[in-house]
Amino acid sequence: MNLETTVICPGSFDPVTLGHIDIISRASKMFSHVIVAVLSNPAKEKSSFSIDERINLLVKSTKNLDNIEIVSFDGLLAEYAKERKVTAIVKGLRAVSDFEYEFQMSLTNKKLNPDLETIFLTAEANYMYLSSSMVKQVASLGGDIKGFVPDCVLDEIVERLSTNR
Ligand code: ADP
Repeated sequence: MNLETTVICPGSFDPVTLGHIDIISRASKMFSHVIVAVLSNPAKEKSSFSIDERINLLVKSTKNLDNIEIVSFDGLLAEYAKERKVTAIVKGLRAVSDFEYEFQMSLTNKKLNPDLETIFLTAEANYMYLSSSMVKQVASLGGDIKGFVPDCVLDEIVERLSTNR
């Protein structure tokens, strides 16, 4: 499937994981152009990696994909999508625990921007449990995060997280 459509994959990517890369690569096969939009003011919590660090890690991790654009945005995703004339967001769904929050977000975005659809891809079974916060937790306790983040940025992430300890 390769639809002539631009989609946005939004997230905090703090830092990028193989779960994110799985969703981004699948979106890049399905759609002609993918904007990976890195939220620079995450509502959830203060980020561990700066916006430039998060973008830099994503750029390195997606260099084999040629229809990807990596940008930062702040404010409302619904507004950003309108500005970029994009009408679909692609998100990954892990366990049932993601569902309620994502459902709420999707309905809110639709209310703010009625043209905006949210497309959910189910997480790959291997990455069902994988999140940026889990990666940070394991790394901060000295655990091995190989297999959780892309190999090309593994050392950089480990080193960066070890300076936080
Ligand atoms: P996290 O929850 O890891 O902090 P983000 O807020 O950066 O992730 O999420 C960005 C997008 O990536 C969301 O659509 C999220 O559902 C998706 N995502 C994150 N981790 C995974 C995973 N392991 N498998 C599939 N999708 C994922």
